[in-house]
Amino acid sequence: MKTLSKFSIGVGDRFAHQGKAQLQACVLASKQGIEVVPVWNKSNREHLIIGSEPSSTRAEADAAVKALGWTKPYFCDADHINLGTLDRFLDPCDFFTIDVADYIGRPAELSTIAAFTKNHPELTGTIQLQGTGETIVITTDQLSRTAAKFLFAVQEAGKVYRKIESAKGKGNFIAEISMDETDTAQTPAELLIILAAIADEGVPIQTIAPKFSGRFNKGVDYVGDVSQFAREMALDMAAIRHAVAHYGLPADLKLSVHSGSDKFSIYPAIHESMRKFDTGVHLKTAGTTWLEEIIGLAEAGGPSLALAKEIYAEAYAHRAELCAPYATVIDIDPKQLPAPAAVSGWTSDQFTSALRHNPADPAYNPSFRQLLHVGFKIAAKMGRRYLDLLEADEAVIARNVTENLYNRHIAPVFLGRHP
Ligand SMILES: [Zn+2]
Repeated sequence: MKTLSKFSIGVGDRFAHQGKAQLQACVLASKQGIEVVPVWNKSNREHLIIGSEPSSTRAEADAAVKALGWTKPYFCDADHINLGTLDRFLDPCDFFTIDVADYIGRPAELSTIAAFTKNHPELTGTIQLQGTGETIVITTDQLSRTAAKFLFAVQEAGKVYRKIESAKGKGNFIAEISMDETDTAQTPAELLIILAAIADEGVPIQTIAPKFSGRFNKGVDYVGDVSQFAREMALDMAAIRHAVAHYGLPADLKLSVHSGSDKFSIYPAIHESMRKFDTGVHLKTAGTTWLEEIIGLAEAGGPSLALAKEIYAEAYAHRAELCAPYATVIDIDPKQLPAPAAVSGWTSDQFTSALRHNPADPAYNPSFRQLLHVGFKIAAKMGRRYLDLLEADEAVIARNVTENLYNRHIAPVFLGRHP
């Protein structure tokens, strides 16, 4: 059976040009004695916006692995797929993020709910979660309400899983279930009940992506109560351990943290919880690499800096339509967005200081950064003009991509080294 290593990082790459630079960050980790396995993830939505095929992600990953002589595992993730979008991912991918968020709250058959609650008397009452010093209490009513809310979604995940299994063969791929793109966070008690249902459905997931409390905005730091997040993550890990022991889910099942890039303030809590529970996480990143491309272009100066400014000006002009699909995962303060006319006079240093995620730099501007984060559609429309400069400035961009993934993500999360 294919297994994901304890530590893994999702390395989304919108334009499929940074595979080597991303893998280099994992090479740096292995030089520090830890194995962090890369997973190239790209969702159907991203492929549609860019106009790319999942097979291009596979080609990029294979080429990077060959170029760097990487001998450890690596994966291609069909990110946030469902029955409707699965097909073109089947051949090139060996990791499937089955997204059931849209099905949460849809009513399952009453008989299914009744059977589930009857089969799981152990899920009611006081449950001791080892390693947390806390107990969770689930009432019969709560159990059936939770079953009513999630069973339909779990059944849907089963359908998608079985379709993947019949195409790829059992054990030849990693399965994840994601529920992060929904309005309300799942509590650790809900997670435990969901895991029991997933086990009943016969889906051997190796990662699960719940929605955590707090805001996981795109490309910027976590917004929320860090100590509450820490407690929730520990309880989630304990719930997973409990579910593995009681329901026969894969022993290496772990949390997947979506929108996981740039969440600097919670990385110490993630690292500490992993250490405490001797488990790993899958940290999913994507847009942070696209932003390093813009930083690299701006740093390169000349026509590349001009192109970075043009992308900003276009993103600014189309900010309403670019932001609309991401409304729940960005918080842009319009007053903080510099006018494109002002930006046009900026030096490389001014542009990169505003954009680079360095909270200690007074010039860092999270609104500027978030707008550019959702602005990749502008670069996609530029086509060859954008790609030609990416290729011309490969060295400076690659340095930024690797440094960002390694220093700001892998080192704090997996090595516990905080800048
Ligand atoms: Zn997600």
